[in-house]
Amino acid sequence: MTILRQHLIDPEICIRCNTCEETCPIDAITHDDNNYVVNMATCDECLDCISPCPTGAIDNWRMVTTAYSEQEQFSWDELPDAIDHGELSLSDLTVHEASEQEVDEILEVAHQGQQGKVLAPSSAEHPHINLYNRNQPIVARVAGNYRITDANTDSDVHHVVLDFGNRTFPVLEGQSIGILPPGEDEKGNPHLVRLYSVASPRDGERPGVNNLSLTVKRVVYQEDGETVRGIGSNYVCDLVKDEKVNVTGPFGSTFLMPNHTEANIIMICTGTGSAPFRAMTEYRRRHMPNAEGRLTLYFGARTPGELPYFGPLNKLNDKFIDKQLVFSRLPDAPKEYVQDRMLAQDEKLSKLIGLGETYVYICGLKDMEQGVEEAFEKICNDNGLDWDNIKMTMKKTGRYHVETY
Ligand code: FAD
Repeated sequence: MTILRQHLIDPEICIRCNTCEETCPIDAITHDDNNYVVNMATCDECLDCISPCPTGAIDNWRMVTTAYSEQEQFSWDELPDAIDHGELSLSDLTVHEASEQEVDEILEVAHQGQQGKVLAPSSAEHPHINLYNRNQPIVARVAGNYRITDANTDSDVHHVVLDFGNRTFPVLEGQSIGILPPGEDEKGNPHLVRLYSVASPRDGERPGVNNLSLTVKRVVYQEDGETVRGIGSNYVCDLVKDEKVNVTGPFGSTFLMPNHTEANIIMICTGTGSAPFRAMTEYRRRHMPNAEGRLTLYFGARTPGELPYFGPLNKLNDKFIDKQLVFSRLPDAPKEYVQDRMLAQDEKLSKLIGLGETYVYICGLKDMEQGVEEAFEKICNDNGLDWDNIKMTMKKTGRYHVETY
């Protein structure tokens, strides 16, 4: 069975401005009185049409066994349901561009903690995904690489800024990008893509500049008496200014922030799990500083020196964000983890969690998931709330998000 990736235009969003048809270098896009459509046989996925589209209608893709014809697309009022045309579920995919299947699988694992498919917040901005893949990566220039944890700690975390020059690479807070480490594995295959969360807001690490930042922890560990260095993280942490990097993505269409000012956002993280929360917080700080919705951050590390962005975080006004920085290895204090602090603040959290405008995001190492979930359960039980019910409602309304790795 051959599986095809078909490029489609969403008729519900398309404003029929003709930009895509004008942009397409090989005339793969055409229109009638009803719709703009892509001719599957002609389209070579150069992606030139994606970024000029003012609405994002152009950025729709389906895995199909039989391509939708132009005539069918002309008749649509909306994109067809996922089950039409032999569209496949991820688990059915056997033939597909390896890089995207690989990313989908990685993301599925990363989102397991939310137990099933979750929607994006209804007010989230439309994300662009899969604009660049392994065969056609975008080349970024390293604009800076700074260690952001204390030099005398084992936790070597870097803030890396990538610049995309005059090429378009639109990202939203909560999305990830793929980095293609150069070289091959022991079997002679190119290294697999490594995903890293975007740590800057959609309008750039520096406002209005076509760049983004990442927060990357160098992975080094001992195995059978040998020191093993993670391929992707060491590549990124060792990048030097002006070096060129092959980037894929963006990826992720659900772990996105709500865009409305009433939304309360509870962010729970450890280590580099803070990256998407730096992006979300900075977006709010730049564009909605007086939002009525509250920002609450539970951020765990072993010591202040190992907590990425400790200095800048501390400068944020307490009225703007309720920061709970939690440490598990302070010399003269008992170990404290994010779930301990959550439990200690059960009254505040139970009030927040019961509100229809509260969004929960959990990001970081897999280990933290269970403790956080148990803390929510206990907080709800102790305060007369039904956690299972609340969580189910939150998931159905795009308000509960887990991304762990
Ligand atoms: P690899 O060469 O892939 O080696 C990793 C291997 O080592 C794995 O088999 C792992 O199980 C094992 N391993 C790792 N640590 C240890 C240890 N201490 N002891 C024993 N075995 C170990 N990372 C970030 O730093 N920042 C981010 O913002 C970020 N965002 C992510 C977002 C998503 C959606 C996902 C899925 C992952 C994200 N990651 C992030 C993780 C990142 O993609 C890589 O997995 C990580 O950098 C390790 O890759 P590597 O190539 O260095 O290690």
